Amino acid sequence: KVAVHRICAGQVILDLSSAVKELVENSLDAGATSIEISLKDYGLESFQVIDNGCGVSPNNFKVLALKHHTSKLGDFHDLQSLTTFGFRGEALSSLCVLGDLTVETRTKNELVATHLTFNHSGLLTAERKTARQVGTTVTVKKLFSSLPVRSKEFSRNIRKEYGKLISLLNAYALISKGVRIVCSNTTGKNAKSVVLKTQGSDSLKDNIITVFGVNTFSCLEPVDIDISGSCKVEGFLSKSGQGSGRNLGDRQYYFVNGRPVDMPKVSKLVNELYKGANSRQYPIAIMNFTIPTTACDVNVTPDKRKIFFSDESSILLALREGLEKNYSSS
Ligand code: ADP
Ligand code: MG
Repeated sequence: KVAVHRICAGQVILDLSSAVKELVENSLDAGATSIEISLKDYGLESFQVIDNGCGVSPNNFKVLALKHHTSKLGDFHDLQSLTTFGFRGEALSSLCVLGDLTVETRTKNELVATHLTFNHSGLLTAERKTARQVGTTVTVKKLFSSLPVRSKEFSRNIRKEYGKLISLLNAYALISKGVRIVCSNTTGKNAKSVVLKTQGSDSLKDNIITVFGVNTFSCLEPVDIDISGSCKVEGFLSKSGQGSGRNLGDRQYYFVNGRPVDMPKVSKLVNELYKGANSRQYPIAIMNFTIPTTACDVNVTPDKRKIFFSDESSILLALREGLEKNYSSS
C-alpha cells in the first residue's frame, strides 16, 4: 500500500516546480498578499513557502496531510465552477511521502502559531507552539529522498529544474495582482540571493515591468480580443519587428482564468503568425484567456498545467483572426 501511494504521489509532484507550484497555489487560495519562496541549494536541500494567508485552524492539524483532505470543496457541484487552485487534497499528502514536511501556521483566532511535523504517511507526529504572524510556512526537506532513482535524477538535473521553477514563479508574478512575491536561494555558506521580487502591483503592465524591465515592456503592444460571447484574450505581445531572434520559451506565458497553463497549440499559432510578419523572430507573449469555467477542464493532468477546452478550434480561429488584425495594423 505504501508503494502504491509513493507512485501516486510521484504523479502529482513531478519535479521541483510542480512541488513549489502546489505550495504557492495553496498560499493564493488562502488569500495571501505576500508569498516568499526560500530555496536551499536550488531546492535540492529544501524549499519553503511563507505566506500571510488565513492559516490552518487547529481542528485541521491532524488531517492536514492525509490523502484527499481538502477544505476547498463545499459540495460536489463546485467541481464545475472551481475558483480555487486546489481541491483534491493531494499536494501536502504527496509531499509527505516524497520528502520531510513541516508546517508552521496561525490563524487570526490564535495568539501563537503551531509548528507541525508529519511523517511519510502524512500522520502528525509532533506539535509545539512557536511565534509567528498570522499565515502559514510550509517546509519540505530532501524532496524525492524516498525514491532513489528520482532522487539521483533530481540532483543531476537541478539547474534545469531550478530554471523551470523560476519561469513558473515569473508566471505567478505576472498574473497575480496585489500579491507580493519574493524568491531567494541560498547555496552552501553563501549569502542569500534574491532571484525574483515583485511589489504586488495592481496591473499586468506594472507586473511585466517589474519582471522583465521597462525596456522589454516598451517593445510590447496590448492584445485584446473578443473570442465569442463570454470568452476573451487580454495581454501583451511583441510589436512587429521587436521580437527576439531566439525561441525563448521562457518569454511566453499563457494563462486561463489567471492560472498558468501550457498551451502548445496557441504558442505555435502565435509564433507562426509573428514569423509571417517578421521572419526569424519569436515574440514575447503574455496572454490571459478568460473562458467560462464550464467550458474548460483543468482536471486533465494531475499538475493541472494542461487544460482541455470544449471548443478549442473556435478559440484558435478567433485568436488567429484577432492577431492577424494586430499585425496588419502595426
Ligand atoms: P488542496 O489544495 O487540494 O485542498 P492540499 O494538499 O494542497 O490540498 O492542502 C490541503 C489543505 O491544507 C487545504 O485544503 C487547506 O485547507 C490547507 N492548507 C494548505 N496550505 C495552506 C496554506 N498555505 N494556508 C492555509 N491553509 C493551507
Ligand atoms: Mg493545494
